[in-house]
Amino acid sequence: MKVEIIAVGSELLTPSFQDTNSLRLTEGLNARGLEVSFKTIVGDDEPDLARALKTALGRARIVLCMGGLGPTEDDRTRETLAAVLGRRLVFRRSIRERIRARFKSRGLPMSASNLKQCYVIEGAEVLDNPNGTAPGLWLETGRHRIALLPGPPREALPMFENEVGPRLAGLGRGFSARREIRLTGLGESAMETRLKPVYDALPPAVNVTTLACPGDLAIRLTYAGAGPRTAAEALLDRVEEGIVRILGPWVYSRTGEPLEAVVGSLLKARGLTVACAESCTGGLIGHRLTEVPGSSDYFLESAVVYGDLSKTRRLGVPAALIDRHGAVSAAVARAMARGIRDTAGADIGVAVTGVAGPGGGTARKPVGLVFVALARERGTTVTRNLFLGGRAQVKFQSSQKALDLVRKVLTPAPERTYNKARTRL
Ligand code: AMP
Ligand code: MG
Repeated sequence: MKVEIIAVGSELLTPSFQDTNSLRLTEGLNARGLEVSFKTIVGDDEPDLARALKTALGRARIVLCMGGLGPTEDDRTRETLAAVLGRRLVFRRSIRERIRARFKSRGLPMSASNLKQCYVIEGAEVLDNPNGTAPGLWLETGRHRIALLPGPPREALPMFENEVGPRLAGLGRGFSARREIRLTGLGESAMETRLKPVYDALPPAVNVTTLACPGDLAIRLTYAGAGPRTAAEALLDRVEEGIVRILGPWVYSRTGEPLEAVVGSLLKARGLTVACAESCTGGLIGHRLTEVPGSSDYFLESAVVYGDLSKTRRLGVPAALIDRHGAVSAAVARAMARGIRDTAGADIGVAVTGVAGPGGGTARKPVGLVFVALARERGTTVTRNLFLGGRAQVKFQSSQKALDLVRKVLTPAPERTYNKARTRL
């Protein structure tokens, strides 16, 4: 059953406002096994809104429309839908009493402009709005289910959950079945090429979407078929296993968790601590690690050591080493990782030094060259990376690489070997 969401409001067509309601509505619809086929944003213009409504009714069976139910002159959603359906608007005294009581509780008289909110499209049910004056409407015609909700999120979202949700019962599958696999260290096209056998054998009831940004990939599986939840889960398990068999070495999460959360769980489970020395990432690794609640259990500190002198004073990186190799070098990255591990007293020291750009690159040390090192008791490793993209992308990819190095040293070897062995099959 196709679903369309219409967001009404001229402010949503400016650079200053976003239609965030539809994201939450989509979440709620998906949870009930309903997928959104179309989203429309339309201004407070009656002819445009009428056209948007007609289009929606022509291609979707469920239409959720929000905004434009307010008391002001430009709020015309109720009137426009009535005209499109060829139905009358009927005055409801009970709504007037409710609005009047709402005003009275604040010691105010009801204003005349609110009277338009007392009109209901013939045949519609009124949806209670405990957080505002605008009641919502629910309409069932032979072919359509239509909801009108107010625009303010604190009114629209509870109304969706409490009023619309129950009325959608039985229209979707009643459950959502989806998976999210996240990867790093592999390019998007390389991932797509490797996934070809999965796509070739994909059951028709499973949709795959991939999301890519430099340094991070996500594969989302959605069940879009009929049948009970157990069958859906089993099918998704099968597809997910097939993907992990091929992409195992790059997969850091099978639950959609971000890398910093995965690394945090691994550190916590092993009772280990980490400290970072960040040059070109400017604290991003520390920021990401501390985004995870409870990170004080394993994250000790992140030193932003941008200047050469800071690398020497804070971490004890020999000045001569910097002179000889340059601040962006494998040797300095190693010394930084060891320096932060020792001075912070951490189990694992991570360090990043690189050229984030856009200036500062040379032929030997181009923009995007980043050394990432990891020091632990049994030794120090360093990786040389050439990241593409602007400054923000280089910084993000550097942080991602650093976190992934931690993940790899904490992931039990048999598991990784297993993945690798299977990849060759
Ligand atoms: P309205 O019901 O059209 O009077 O909406 C009133 C206010 O709700 C607007 O000024 C916006 O700030 C907010 N709003 C309306 N539509 C949305 C939407 N789709 N997403 C988020 N906020 C919205
Ligand atoms: Mg509006």
